[in-house]
Amino acid sequence: MDRLVALCKRRGIIFPSSDIYGGIGSAYDYGPAGARIKRNLADHWLREMTMKHDDIVELDSAIIYNPRVWEASGHVGGFNDPMVECSECKGRFRDDHIVSIYLCCKCQKSKVKKTGVETREPTTENETACEICKENTDWQRIETQCPRCGAKNSLTPPRQFNLMMKTYVGPIEDESGIAYLRPETAQGIYIDYKIVMETSRLRPPFGIAQIGKAFRNEITTKNFIARTREFEQMEMQFFIKPGDNEKWCEYWREQRWNYLLDLGVRPEKLRWHEHEKLAHYARAAWDIEYEFPYGWGELEGLHDRGDFDLSRHSEFSGKDLSFFDDSVKERYMPHVIESSSGLNRAMLMLLCEAYHEDVQDGEERVYLSLDPRIAPVKAAFLPLVKKDGLYELGHDLFKSIQGRWRADFDESGSIGKRYRRQDEVGTPFCFTIDYQTKEDGTVTVRWRDTLQQERISKDQIPNFLSNKLGII
Ligand code: ATP
Repeated sequence: MDRLVALCKRRGIIFPSSDIYGGIGSAYDYGPAGARIKRNLADHWLREMTMKHDDIVELDSAIIYNPRVWEASGHVGGFNDPMVECSECKGRFRDDHIVSIYLCCKCQKSKVKKTGVETREPTTENETACEICKENTDWQRIETQCPRCGAKNSLTPPRQFNLMMKTYVGPIEDESGIAYLRPETAQGIYIDYKIVMETSRLRPPFGIAQIGKAFRNEITTKNFIARTREFEQMEMQFFIKPGDNEKWCEYWREQRWNYLLDLGVRPEKLRWHEHEKLAHYARAAWDIEYEFPYGWGELEGLHDRGDFDLSRHSEFSGKDLSFFDDSVKERYMPHVIESSSGLNRAMLMLLCEAYHEDVQDGEERVYLSLDPRIAPVKAAFLPLVKKDGLYELGHDLFKSIQGRWRADFDESGSIGKRYRRQDEVGTPFCFTIDYQTKEDGTVTVRWRDTLQQERISKDQIPNFLSNKLGII
């Protein structure tokens, strides 16, 4: 992880925000290559959702909604994390992230050390089997340790901390102006579902997909871009007829899993986690977890939300959000199956998958084996030397594909150095223009991962890229 973070900083892919002022704790900026990777990933997700499925449409809703939305959704009252504070170092932590020693409530003998997992579920009462009683049992926390200063039993009892970021709308900073930066994009979809359905001439089953910023006042942020206070979500809410829930959960679970495999993620690095304790809105919930360098962590969620959201918004707004199916003369409140993914966390996962080191000609090489669809630059044009017309030849070839694929022209430094530069940002193909190009019109193509080289006619470059990259 440290080496990936260092690469990201060295190449200006991702780096701490407002760094010249000392940063602001876990806010990150995405430089040219990083911004491009993030956008490619977002575009790819959106294409997958709205182009591969003709029953899903896109939405771009506001970030600040009427605050009543958050009362209806349950966020004002219930979007809390349990926070503990260390009486020694004054550090604040999420209670369910603390490593503690637990005692078996049944036999009072067996002790286990458990790390809070990456979930909002409390771990204090997790029912797991005791090695001595051989039965499922409750566990009582008997010893805590501060993750920062190491002090034993210095943590205060947990208190609930609301994660929504407050702001004021309008010139007067009083109660009447309080609003929230959305902590998820999903609610924007629910409140707009009816107008989108009617204007798009859709009827259940159909989906609405949205990518956008979300804000959570996380107690602790960590693991680079995996948990920050400002992040982006890619959420798709699928509206169905009640009763079809299981079928659609199954369908979307399979879709999401295959989507990740198609992006090249190794299946052994992925696993499902089914929630036993459910959030107030959910009837069933699964996470896809990825094994990050710091351990397994949630990548995205798949939730059966039933009619919770639409019913609550109907009740709170006074507007009937039910659907009348005129083909069978039946009225019902659609149920929702939600696919909820974090763009930044997904990007981190792809960077972890792509990060490779090897040794070439005695020199260490770092390369990102990014899927070409996600790579920030698709091809680089490298004249072997600047003289004898090779520069101009290379530049003309570079210009000839500009506008179709994102490409780079690099003429400075040794060819080896230039290859390394491209490898580090994951450019899948490098075209080298040399003296032979002048003679027979061929260039060398170098493949990033295998380092395989072949000569193709320079006129074949657009064809080669179309074949290898498809529509991107
Ligand atoms: P976690 O338990 O990791 O806090 P969550 O269960 O609260 O996540 P959801 O509310 O289901 O997460 O949000 C959906 C997705 O949004 C998550 O799977 C994750 O990819 C992303 N996400 C949530 N919180 C953050 C954050 N603070 N920073 C970056 N991404 C986040």
